[in-house]
Amino acid sequence: MYDGMTRAAPGSASTNRTIDLRSDTVTQPTAAMREVMARAEVGDDVYGEDPTITALETKVAAMLGKEAAVYVTSGTQSNLLGVLAHCQRGDEYLIGDVYHVYQYEALGTSVLGGVAAYPLRTDPSHGLDPEQVVAGIKPDDAHKPITKLLCLENTVNGRVQDQSRIEALADTAHANGLAVHLDGARLMNAAVKQGRSPKDLVAKIDTVSICLSKGLGAPVGSVLSGPAEHIRTARRLRKMLGGGMRQAGVIAAAGLHALETHVERMAEDHSNARRLAEGLAGIEGLTVDLDAVQTNMVFVGVESDRADPLRVFLAERGIVIGRSRPEIRMVTHLDVTTEDVDRVVESVTEFYGR
Ligand SMILES: *Cc1c(COP(=O)(O)O)cnc(C)c1O
Repeated sequence: MYDGMTRAAPGSASTNRTIDLRSDTVTQPTAAMREVMARAEVGDDVYGEDPTITALETKVAAMLGKEAAVYVTSGTQSNLLGVLAHCQRGDEYLIGDVYHVYQYEALGTSVLGGVAAYPLRTDPSHGLDPEQVVAGIKPDDAHKPITKLLCLENTVNGRVQDQSRIEALADTAHANGLAVHLDGARLMNAAVKQGRSPKDLVAKIDTVSICLSKGLGAPVGSVLSGPAEHIRTARRLRKMLGGGMRQAGVIAAAGLHALETHVERMAEDHSNARRLAEGLAGIEGLTVDLDAVQTNMVFVGVESDRADPLRVFLAERGIVIGRSRPEIRMVTHLDVTTEDVDRVVESVTEFYGR
């Protein structure tokens, strides 16, 4: 079971340590995690000889019900390999317009892979409809790229995607000869929130990327899983990208530990996010869509001229938030306690009460 005592950042008094709400990527490895990292058995993974990496890959493949998996440096690399395992130069993938692969990965799939991205407009829940997929598939015509893949995401901005819709989208894609890749950077949050196994959630998906370095709390790493043949292709591409790592079992051990001990505890992050959202929603001057708070993210609407002063005010009190674009995203994670959430709500209340 997760030990809350190990979470305080080293060398900082728990009462006045920084509360960083910018992202769930900011977590510090716990003492227990550092211990398993120190003890990890390692080997040269490019030779396939790192037992810790092999154990991590085997575990993720089993958790997701896939044939194989490959450990990679980041979610961005994992998604890039995922898309390129399905698409050749001149091919195209369909993707939700707000999804990370389309918005925040420098379009590496296009730059490095020569693969076109065709965005589909997502609805307010960040979902897509099967009809949009059908409409997006190009005819066999020399004027058009060849549509090969549908790229989905779950969770999206903290929202759990409707499972029956994910399945309908995958069925439609497959019926039309497309493969399906899921950016599951926060798939475990979706699984915990719904009380379902991650394997169930991705049963109809071909390749799945999960991040170990988000809510799971590992310092680095992602895993791409899928059919053995696609993972073999991904391994070759990983090497080409310079992502073939050697005794990386030292960091893979953190990921393995995170999957063993930090999945169920994500429910705490979700209840902390809910507590934060409800606390902030009660403050005049802020807008919070409580229905959108489903896992560990809260989006707060702030009047544009108050956003920067609020950020500075909170920073002076040891609370770090990101810039508004236009809303301010606040993310709960392993290093944010319920007491921290209350401190944040108190400080924001103080700011608006001045
Ligand atoms: C963070 C994130 C990624 C990319 O992961 P990195 O490890 O930062 O490259 C991909 N998709 C989503 C939804 C993310 O939140």
